[in-house]
Amino acid sequence: MNRVFNFSAGPSALPLPVLEKAQAELVCYGSSGMSVMEMSHRSSDYQKIIDDCEALLREILSIPDNYKVLFLQGGASSQFAMIPLNLYGKNKKADFILTGMWAKKAQKEAARYGEAKIIASSDDKTFNYIPQIDKSMFSPDADFVHITHNNTIYGTKFEGPLDTGDVPLIADMSSSILSEPVDVSKYGMIYAGAQKNMGPAGLTVVIIREDLIGNAMDICPTMFNYETHSENGSMFNTPPTYAIYICKLVCEWLKENGGIEAMHKTNLKKAEILYSYLDESEMFSATVANPKHRSLMNVPFVTGNDELNAKFIKEATAAGFVNLKGHRSVGGMRASIYNAMPIEGVQALVDFMKKFEAENK
Ligand SMILES: *Cc1c(COP(=O)(O)O)cnc(C)c1O
Repeated sequence: MNRVFNFSAGPSALPLPVLEKAQAELVCYGSSGMSVMEMSHRSSDYQKIIDDCEALLREILSIPDNYKVLFLQGGASSQFAMIPLNLYGKNKKADFILTGMWAKKAQKEAARYGEAKIIASSDDKTFNYIPQIDKSMFSPDADFVHITHNNTIYGTKFEGPLDTGDVPLIADMSSSILSEPVDVSKYGMIYAGAQKNMGPAGLTVVIIREDLIGNAMDICPTMFNYETHSENGSMFNTPPTYAIYICKLVCEWLKENGGIEAMHKTNLKKAEILYSYLDESEMFSATVANPKHRSLMNVPFVTGNDELNAKFIKEATAAGFVNLKGHRSVGGMRASIYNAMPIEGVQALVDFMKKFEAENK
């Protein structure tokens, strides 16, 4: 077996012990005599898997009792429509902070169903910073405020939860969930596609305060209504059973490795190793300059020379550091260092970058 260091932005690396556990259980799960993939979602064996997954998520993220955890499909992108369809119940108005392509997509989709006001944006500088937000910028009659907590493409992150007063704060945490502790009570809703930090593609996790459920617009399709899934334990129809099972294994792995605080500490260390080299290097630099805005999970960087970028990516790939090509809108490189990337992987990448810099002066 020859596994590489995989810096993919998503779908991304999974912890090896999770893959090995899944492999061991692949053909025959427990005493069920079948694979998890072959089980009825209504079976007691499967009910235990989804219940355990929810209980682990609740424990790891300290999710308060007045929040529901929903296991949905359609990716984070479907939430861009589900959010307005469910939450434009009162005034059909919401505030959006544009910090990247995903935030833009969420705003654009919401604008199809009501007013989607852009109250701040960092579009002027290719989203390489988080705009200054003042409480007075929020519309008091908005149904919600939407942010992208961690900007996967641009490598920025909001420092803490915004104070939006009584207006529910909705956060896309697709690329930051489970990477650091989060005060769920400060959010009306948190959502995340699983394929960055929780498991394979095909599962979207929604954590939503109960009072925000049940006020959907009349035109909201049944499958897009949070109430449908909340009232049926995420089993109105067939949930993404295998992806939920892997998410459970990821949660177990995270717990066995010290829980969310330990994970956060490791993530801080990994980011420190990479950013401090980028800050001292004469060849490479991080595209996000302000340390307060830097993502712990996605680190875009450039050399300032397209040919050199291409040479670096080619040689890195050959040396076993893969998926380092940056998003086309930023160029250069991006190292996604999610929970499953060990400190050794980041250290090895930095060692390789140092060697490359010395050889290409
Ligand atoms: C990847 C990503 C998305 C899109 O997720 P899909 O599951 O592919 O729809 C949305 N928001 C953020 C922040 C992402 O990183």
